Amino acid sequence: MKQTTVAVIGGGPAGVSATVYLRRALIDVLLIERGVPGGKVNFTAEIENYPGFVKVNGPDLALKFYEQVNSLGVSFTYGDVSKVITNEDHFIIQTDEEEIKAEYVIFATGMEERKLGVPGEEEYNGRGVHFCAVCDGPFYKGESVMVVGGGNSAFQEAVYLAGFSKKVYLIHRSDKFKADEILVKKAKATPNIEIILHTEVAEVIGDGDKVTSIIVENNQTNEQSEFSVSALFPYIGQLPMSAALKDLNVTDERGYVIVNDVMETSIPNLFAAGDVIKKGLRQVVTATNDGAIAAIEITHRVA
Ligand SMILES: Cc1cc2nc3c(=O)[nH]c(=O)nc-3n(C[C@H](O)[C@H](O)[C@H](O)COP(=O)(O)OP(=O)(O)OC[C@H]3O[C@@H](n4cnc5c(N)ncnc54)[C@H](O)[C@@H]3O)c2cc1C
Repeated sequence: MKQTTVAVIGGGPAGVSATVYLRRALIDVLLIERGVPGGKVNFTAEIENYPGFVKVNGPDLALKFYEQVNSLGVSFTYGDVSKVITNEDHFIIQTDEEEIKAEYVIFATGMEERKLGVPGEEEYNGRGVHFCAVCDGPFYKGESVMVVGGGNSAFQEAVYLAGFSKKVYLIHRSDKFKADEILVKKAKATPNIEIILHTEVAEVIGDGDKVTSIIVENNQTNEQSEFSVSALFPYIGQLPMSAALKDLNVTDERGYVIVNDVMETSIPNLFAAGDVIKKGLRQVVTATNDGAIAAIEITHRVA
């Protein structure tokens, strides 16, 4: 069984930041990631609110994270963590590949996109229904697409898609947006974005192979209409990925991990950081903040 002083689960901004601080204190750390290091940043077109960058392409920032971690000699392992088990003075982390023993854990698994739950969504997932505009948007160059949501992600990705799509319909269930005003203004000023309010997706229609149209419903008039689009990008919020902790009683009723001001859960030496924790603002800058705080607390204890 692999052994480490600190296991960092999740290689997004929170996990990367924790790893950097731990390695700079020369602490033995193993970064466990089931996908691509960099986390959600890989799936973001452009980031304009991370200090030090006027504007940075998400995958470029993710690559810089990876290079930094690599330069510090961090050990990586690929694995999908299914369970964290507590023992007297250590943890056992179960992945789909192996079991890992660690004295400390920083759980930084982030969130996953919330699904719409409408007919056709599952059937056409990956064949016209996509949750990452940066990854899959370019397949629909020159075509019409639909984005759903009223937050920063929806607006940001609608503007990104508008750069190469024929038309972007941005539909939102109310007339109030959570998105930053600067993004709303940008979307409104983009000629090929049409914002449609008080409207929800009712059904995804396809030809058995790919999406051909979307039926939407006005939630004030109940009137339905069909939009001929090739792809649907729902950005209607996210859910914390904390299933691996479910037996430990460290989450709130929605699954967010509850931590104290040093990012520690109610279980000693089990820390959590980033989007997966219960907090007010989920951004790259707050994720890196959380990871650093958890790491520094661990460095005090290991010393
Ligand atoms: C479309 C979009 C646009 C955004 N734009 C911005 C922006 O402009 N500015 C900004 O500051 N923030 C933005 N954000 C938010 C930002 O991306 C997140 O706040 C940030 O990435 C959170 O970092 P994290 O490390 O907590 O989680 P994540 O980045 O989600 O990383 C978590 C990592 O954990 C891994 N993981 C998950 N479960 C497991 C498991 N069981 N086993 C092993 N590994 C696992 C995942 O593969 C992932 O790599 C955006 C988000 C989205 C979706």
